[in-house]
Amino acid sequence: MPPIKIGIVGLGKIARDQHLPALAANPDFELVAVASRNASLEDAANFATLEEMLAGVPELDAVSLCTPPTVRYGQARQALQAGKHVMLEKPPGATLSEVEDLTRLAEASPGSLFATWHSRHAPTVAPARKWLASRQISKVHIEWKEDVRVWHPGQRWIWEPGGMGVFDPAINALSIVTAILPRSFFLREGTLKVPENCQAPIAAKLRFSDSEETPITADLDFLQTGPQTWDIHIETDAGNLTLRKGGSQMFIDDRLEHEAPEQEYPGLYARFAELVARCESEVDVAPLRHVADAFLLGRRETVAPFHDES
Ligand code: NAP
Repeated sequence: MPPIKIGIVGLGKIARDQHLPALAANPDFELVAVASRNASLEDAANFATLEEMLAGVPELDAVSLCTPPTVRYGQARQALQAGKHVMLEKPPGATLSEVEDLTRLAEASPGSLFATWHSRHAPTVAPARKWLASRQISKVHIEWKEDVRVWHPGQRWIWEPGGMGVFDPAINALSIVTAILPRSFFLREGTLKVPENCQAPIAAKLRFSDSEETPITADLDFLQTGPQTWDIHIETDAGNLTLRKGGSQMFIDDRLEHEAPEQEYPGLYARFAELVARCESEVDVAPLRHVADAFLLGRRETVAPFHDES
């Protein structure tokens, strides 16, 4: 099979940190074009917009959308209508309805649609799901605390409507939990702390449960300096499971059971190549639905303004 000719849209932080190296290491893909309003890449055809890229490189097979969620629907629609395979960064869109619309469009298009959840490719997700499948879960606690100034320097979009604030990283935790827990769960109550100059929360506390009334809580913070916390603690009838460092380590009763180097984006592109080969789509909106529920049900508290000095 010749390599899949792919173009990247939005040459920002995640495109440079993860997509470019993952594509360079995967012989199933050939990065041939970039659409960016402000940046360019050597050894690729550069365009200001996706529209120009689609017109300028008609042999393109696929596009990878690395833009913020609020602009992704229009871009994905354009690419699917042009017959391309489309990979979406997380979250797959700004609303559930637009992702549903894209899913329907993909069903009627020759291209595949892949709504990625990079954290589901963390090395402990599969072993954790297997370990939990035969146990009775009594409690789940998510602690997702990172420094927005480190991971999203100068990104104003994250504080605008649809930018999701602290849920931009926290949706990664939700993507793991929805993949490893044996039962679906739903929000009971929540508090969202919104800076007075922003439209999206900077911190949140959530309480979910499932049909068995299992307590599932989340403590989310976007202002954590020093060591970063991306942990999930699960108590069961046969020991406690903890995922640390975003799912790169798995502990059972404080004993390290599983650890592997981070390979999330190589995993995503390997999966995309499979989907493209089969012309299949993969879209799971469960993590985004929980975020939408938090915005529906959460109590707002206005807090001090946020200023990004980075
Ligand atoms: P970013 O650094 O702001 O990059 C996004 C790029 O999208 C920008 O460089 C810009 O590219 C383009 N863009 C921004 N606004 C646009 C608009 N209104 N219309 C068209 N293009 C626009 O953001 P990022 O951190 O890479 O995040 C992008 C996505 O990746 C988000 O959904 C985020 O959740 C996800 N992600 C981020 C991280 C992380 O650590 N930052 C990790 C995993 C996933 P041009 O200037 O090139 O046009």
